[in-house]
Order: sequence, then C-alpha cells, then structure tokens
Amino acid sequence: MVITPHVIAGVAAAAITEFHFARAENNNERPLFLKSNRFKIILISCLLGFSSHFLLDAIPHYEYDIYASVPYDFSGIVIDSIVACTSLFIILHGLLRETARGLDIPSNLRGAWAKEKLRYVPFLISLTAAGFAAILPDIILTLGKPYFGVPMRVFDKFHHFWHTSIRISDGYAFMIEACITLGMAWFLLKTIPKIKIEIDSKQIAQELADISSR
Ligand SMILES: [Zn+2]
Repeated sequence: MVITPHVIAGVAAAAITEFHFARAENNNERPLFLKSNRFKIILISCLLGFSSHFLLDAIPHYEYDIYASVPYDFSGIVIDSIVACTSLFIILHGLLRETARGLDIPSNLRGAWAKEKLRYVPFLISLTAAGFAAILPDIILTLGKPYFGVPMRVFDKFHHFWHTSIRISDGYAFMIEACITLGMAWFLLKTIPKIKIEIDSKQIAQELADISSR
C-alpha cells in the first residue's frame, strides 16, 4: 500500500494501545499483567504498528515499486507523505494546539500549569513512533537493497509471504486504500477524545494527590 493508509493504521494501533493502558491505569488495573510504563506502551504501539504493515499488504492494493532502481514515482511519494502528515495534523489538532500552548511558555516560567499543557506529549510521541513503524518495512527494503545479505533476504521473503499477489486496476486499488484510510481516520476521530478523557482524569487525580500530600 502507499504511505497514508499504512501511517494511519500504525497510529490507530497506537491509539488502541494507549486507550487500553490509560483506562486500565485509571481503574488501578494491570493491563496485560504488566505494570504499565511509557517505554512498554511505546514498544507495544510500535510492534503493533509494524505488524499492521503486513496485514494491509495482504489486501489487494496499489503501491510504488520499491524494487525499481530509481524511485520513479517520486512525486507520488511526496504528495502521499503530505497527505499522511495533513491527515494526522487534522486528527490530532486539538492535542497539538494544547501542546503548542505549553511549549509557548518560557522554560524558566514552566510550573505545574505548563506541565499540564504538555500532558499529551508522551501520547503524541507513541502515535508518531507507531505511524513511522508502520512504514518501516518498506523503508528497510528500499534502503537495504544495496546490502542484500542473509537478514535482508529473510526479511524480504517474510514481506513477500504476507504480500498479496492479486493485481487489480488502479481505480479499484485507489478505492480500497481510500476506504481503509477513511475508516481508520474515523475510528481515530472517535477514539482520541476518549483517550483525552482518560489522560485528563489521570492528570486531575495526580493534581489532587499532589494537593492532599502538601
Ligand atoms: Zn510493504
């Protein structure tokens, strides 16, 4: 598939992970029998994002020829990357605006209030990392082409194993990729406000705990 559906799928995988962990933490549960912490959440999000690549590649689709000697579809790749970034910007604009307000505060004046404004930063990092992890298999195969040793050949075989061999017309392929992208973008628009509530209630609980310990 092209870049946009892969990135949005990776971000959706991270959003599911974040929601699961944030809700469990707020309910004092141990998600997946792990004591949740940032590193684990980012790692799980990235692993899910990376895996989502192979699932999407199994669906008949249009894609750039990553095995071509020159990336001939360069303009397509640039436009696709702009579409991916713009979609993410629209989906995450509320959280980004709040974060920008926190970053606007001069560092010597950053107190609890700025910390509160920056509370979505770890969440945004895990979403971005998982979005990147979702396109990583194709990046590895493109950049790794000159170094085609055993590990690269094994990875290439693995990618090929999942990849569909069904060829369909560009029109149908575009429709399939657009539907998948819009479906996942809709899912993210629905899920992110729920995650925001969980992050906000965690923040409030933390602030109340800080006040009562004073
Ligand atoms: Zn691929």
